[in-house]
Amino acid sequence: MQILDITSSIQSLESAHTSGVYPKRDLVIVEGEGASLWDEQGRRYIDCVGGQGAANLGHSHPAIVEAISQQARRLISCPEIFYNDVRAAYLAELTAATPGELNRAFLSNSGAEAIEAAIKFARVSTGRREIVAAMRGFHGRTMGALSATWNKKYRGPFMPLVPDFTHIPYNNIAALEAAVSDATAAVLLEPVQGEGGVRPADPAFLHAARELCDAHGALLIVDEIQTGFGRTGRLFASEHYDLQPDILALAKSIAGGLPMGATLLGPRVGELPRLVHGSTFGGNPLVAAAARATLRVLQEERLPERAARLGALAQERLARIDSPLIREVRGLGLMLGIELKIKVGPVLRALQERGVLALPAGATVLRLLPPLVIDEADLFYVIDTIEAILQEMV
Ligand SMILES: *Cc1c(COP(=O)(O)O)cnc(C)c1O
Repeated sequence: MQILDITSSIQSLESAHTSGVYPKRDLVIVEGEGASLWDEQGRRYIDCVGGQGAANLGHSHPAIVEAISQQARRLISCPEIFYNDVRAAYLAELTAATPGELNRAFLSNSGAEAIEAAIKFARVSTGRREIVAAMRGFHGRTMGALSATWNKKYRGPFMPLVPDFTHIPYNNIAALEAAVSDATAAVLLEPVQGEGGVRPADPAFLHAARELCDAHGALLIVDEIQTGFGRTGRLFASEHYDLQPDILALAKSIAGGLPMGATLLGPRVGELPRLVHGSTFGGNPLVAAAARATLRVLQEERLPERAARLGALAQERLARIDSPLIREVRGLGLMLGIELKIKVGPVLRALQERGVLALPAGATVLRLLPPLVIDEADLFYVIDTIEAILQEMV
């Protein structure tokens, strides 16, 4: 009784004062470690939400806790009008870790901000306005990022958005050729569409985007906010495709779960005029320390390799599930999508009842984004549980 009172008092307190924009699950999460989360009653869940992509390292990774504890005692705030030791070291490490010649970075605080910066830099650098993005693409919810995002549900209430954005069907080279011209500032694409249903790009499509940008003097912006930092089995998904972005947008797992965004710039983005952009919190030493620790952990624990191995095992097992309710299994590394022939909501609720937290990607796709540190046994339990639930639902 008392426990239930605690549960309902937390939920009613939050419900009374939160904005109301989130559809809430009937669950209070109070603690996490690795790929485990606990509710306020001490019940454990296997986490395949992964902080919606922010928890590649697992929850409260000791290296992150240590890095931010130490840095918090030294310096938390330091705007970029000053130089800073931790930020300088991180910028060097990040630009060394990213593909190609992305030698500079603008630091911010979220994915949407990383995309806003990318759009502004593409416009200011090319002197052009048009941005070509993809149907089913998701790039965030601020007005510029939303203009690149495709889903009507997110865009509809906010029209008119920023002009001169067009959307072409993903993986359609002919449509891309028709859309890109000498007026195009940038082509903006995810290498694997996340929110749009876990859809990996055809290599030929991304290569065509690269060639069209070269031919027309446009910039290629790659959104690796969800695919970055080991998720797909390489540090960045662009490596799978041997793809060279001119601008690379990063966020989510960049700083071990702390809020951070980064917009990496290649040589074709010329020198940026002073004051064309900025951020109060961007590049703060606390989060830079967490981001340095994140790169170290990803390398030391070989997490991209782990994501590749576990992801291949998971895809193989998922593909073996013999259910008339499965339309297709897709993914890359530990970014997994199971397209169903039914709505995903009831499946998510049944999983939660059996101790598994997962995500949708649209109305019919079940998406798994487990921390890359997840135990093999936990991952197989998740797959067995999905199978059992689908059998019961037939
Ligand atoms: C989550 C996401 C964003 C937006 O990131 P926020 O931090 O929520 O603003 C942008 N692009 C992609 C591909 C994402 O997955």
